Amino acid sequence: MSTAAPLRAAPSARWQRELADAIRDPAELCAAVGLDPREVGTSGAAGDSFPLLVPRPFVARMRRGDPHDPLLLQVLPRAAEERDVAGYTADPLGESAALAAPGLVRKYAGRALVLVTGGCAVNCRYCFRREFPYATSGATRRGIDEGLAAIAADPSLSEVILSGGDPLLADDGFLGGIVTRLDAMPHVRRLRIHTRLPVVLPSRVDAGLVAALGASRLARVVVLHANHPAELDDAVAAAVRRLAALPAIVLNQAVLLAGVNDSAAVLAALSQRLVELGVVPYYLHVLDHVRGAAHFEVAEQRALALHRELRESLPGYAVPRLVREVPGEPAKVWLA
Ligand code: SF4
Repeated sequence: MSTAAPLRAAPSARWQRELADAIRDPAELCAAVGLDPREVGTSGAAGDSFPLLVPRPFVARMRRGDPHDPLLLQVLPRAAEERDVAGYTADPLGESAALAAPGLVRKYAGRALVLVTGGCAVNCRYCFRREFPYATSGATRRGIDEGLAAIAADPSLSEVILSGGDPLLADDGFLGGIVTRLDAMPHVRRLRIHTRLPVVLPSRVDAGLVAALGASRLARVVVLHANHPAELDDAVAAAVRRLAALPAIVLNQAVLLAGVNDSAAVLAALSQRLVELGVVPYYLHVLDHVRGAAHFEVAEQRALALHRELRESLPGYAVPRLVREVPGEPAKVWLA
């Protein structure tokens, strides 16, 4: 999300330069993929409240001249976002109420989630945190200090999740400092990182990041976010190999999105590509009802039917669990 806390150094690494060069203007994105903005129903108003942001390496994977390209649909602000739909709200998961300390979200037993930054390398139109109040939630260096102090004081926490925004948007020194502090807490045993950067900007997984994450005693789990097999090109495959060599368990979570991946063939191709890359398809989320994203909704009966088709066509290890997050529940709800 674009309300980024200022955690980045001046662009010096390749990924930082690529991020600085990301596309931020709908007309420029349309031109880059050979489309007329009127043809794709893009909207300035939707982009005002949640701006377009997409790195060029991700744009390069879009099909030119296709207004229905599944990667384009995930990032282009469209007029449909301006519709007010009953049941779609600013904070669909009630996360503001789950803030246990500045920058620290507590939802599930034994785990705490650190909001490392409000920034992302891409603004996904369906994001459940698209209106999250990062500025007042403590996703700042000082807030994170307080959040880490709260983790240190709570021996019931065995796993820390770095999230955001996208935690890998923070620079290597800052990330390395967080890992060093967690390493020194004997009760913390696992470090989980939720990130879309290795998919949308794979150059982020460079030697500096490997050094920042690699020296830790903590068991590492990296949860990627890819929704369509066309997102997973050779550069992403190389980034995944570097993450796996940390070592880390690498998982993927996807969101079921109308017009993007709501077909059994696309979901099966996504799972098969992930497995080829050494990534376990972990979760397939049904859409969180965030304001502005109703046009991505896939009815639950349809989601269940798609999941049944996946089970009938793939080995069990390649079938992600179909889940919904319900505020206040002690765990994700397994739909299938
Ligand atoms: S879905 Fe993830 S990468 Fe996309 S905008 Fe939301 S937090 Fe950022």
